[in-house]
Amino acid sequence: MREQRLRVELPAVLSLGSNLGDREGTIRAAVAEIAALDEVRLTAASGLVETAALKPDGVDTDAPAYLNAVVAVRTTLHPEQLLAAINAIEKEHGRVRAERWGDRTLDIDIVDFGGLRVDSERLTLPHPRAAERAFVLVPWLQIEPLASLLSAGRVDRLPAADGDGVTPYKARPLL
Ligand code: ATP
Ligand code: CA
Ligand code: CA
Ligand code: CA
Repeated sequence: MREQRLRVELPAVLSLGSNLGDREGTIRAAVAEIAALDEVRLTAASGLVETAALKPDGVDTDAPAYLNAVVAVRTTLHPEQLLAAINAIEKEHGRVRAERWGDRTLDIDIVDFGGLRVDSERLTLPHPRAAERAFVLVPWLQIEPLASLLSAGRVDRLPAADGDGVTPYKARPLL
């Protein structure tokens, strides 16, 4: 991977989720690990929200529920470098990729990176399913009320921003 850095920081939005093990502890640790990355500054963190698991066939109330949060960072890493860094954090937390949308200790996605459009083998930006996910939009709006997504427009006007199925989860702040 190339080692060049961006000349200026760009803002990026990351979504975190966990539905196995100590969900809150894992997300809390992951947020601290993101903040500790070189060339990455954490600028905001949402509250935690809880949502039933979604499987390719629909909502799965038999699977353990998810805790999700969204954080904002500023970084001089290139998008693929940020992806590699968050994949390493997932791995440290025992993430195994088995079935699609299977239960996991930790998932970290890049929702948006500087409003850039990227379509490579490893990375699609903005995240192609973010606009329809209440568990992404609701915490994102907490930290960026005026957020917008390429092609989808203002986040607060998207149907999923209504937050159906998303419950605030009581916990001390992540930041
Ligand atoms: P979803 O993408 O629907 O949220 P998922 O998070 O469960 O599903 P994963 O198995 O974690 O999917 O990731 C599959 C691959 O998606 C990763 O290996 C990564 O290369 C790729 N990917 C593409 N775009 C992104 C992005 N914006 N953020 C994170 N990973 C991405
Ligand atoms: Ca840092
Ligand atoms: Ca995901
Ligand atoms: Ca992912």
